[in-house]
Amino acid sequence: MLIVAHIGDSINEYRLLGDRYFPEACPTCRWGRFRRHGHYPHNADEAGPVPIFRFRCNKRGCRQVFAVLPDLFVPQQSAPVAVQEQAVFEYAATVSTYTEAAESAGVSTSTVWRWVDRAAGMVEQWISGLQAWQGMVKPGDYVAVNADESLRPRWQSRRLRKPNRPNRLLLLERLPALVKQCRKSLVAILQPALRNLVGAATCLGFCRLVLPMLLGNSGM
Ligand SMILES: [Zn+2]
Repeated sequence: MLIVAHIGDSINEYRLLGDRYFPEACPTCRWGRFRRHGHYPHNADEAGPVPIFRFRCNKRGCRQVFAVLPDLFVPQQSAPVAVQEQAVFEYAATVSTYTEAAESAGVSTSTVWRWVDRAAGMVEQWISGLQAWQGMVKPGDYVAVNADESLRPRWQSRRLRKPNRPNRLLLLERLPALVKQCRKSLVAILQPALRNLVGAATCLGFCRLVLPMLLGNSGM
């Protein structure tokens, strides 16, 4: 479970204040006493992982574990994630080359390469996560991945440096549609606080941040 709170006006401020912040009330029972329950890294900041802290409600019978996400990271408000998102998926859809995506994002070509590389490295894990989650909420409603094979020749003509790259790029190209499908069934069943986050998250934000929380797996 996740709550969103204002903890500093910038990521740097949050880095200073984050570990001193305590939430006001348990999102489940409204009790106001907690124990710290570890943290996990959020990777939206280029400067390096940012810790997101978890708490556990002290009330007997509740013991809800939840994470507190600084509102800086509500993905819709985070320009870098949105810019990244566009560059990655334009590239994956072969709409843009690295150079073109870099120009419209206002970053260097190597930055776009790094964004794509990171997403391509995770895409298989993200897709099985989406499938696992969909299986939990709607058994029988399987998220199928049908790669657009007509794109493959274009990747081959671009002479990619990594041999397995075309397969991963084809999956990456399908990702926004898969996330959309999962998001739909999710929004219907979630509590308001989480529903907003799930609804507002970019595709990459959803995969990097929301999905691991839903699956209770911080190591994704
Ligand atoms: Zn509680």
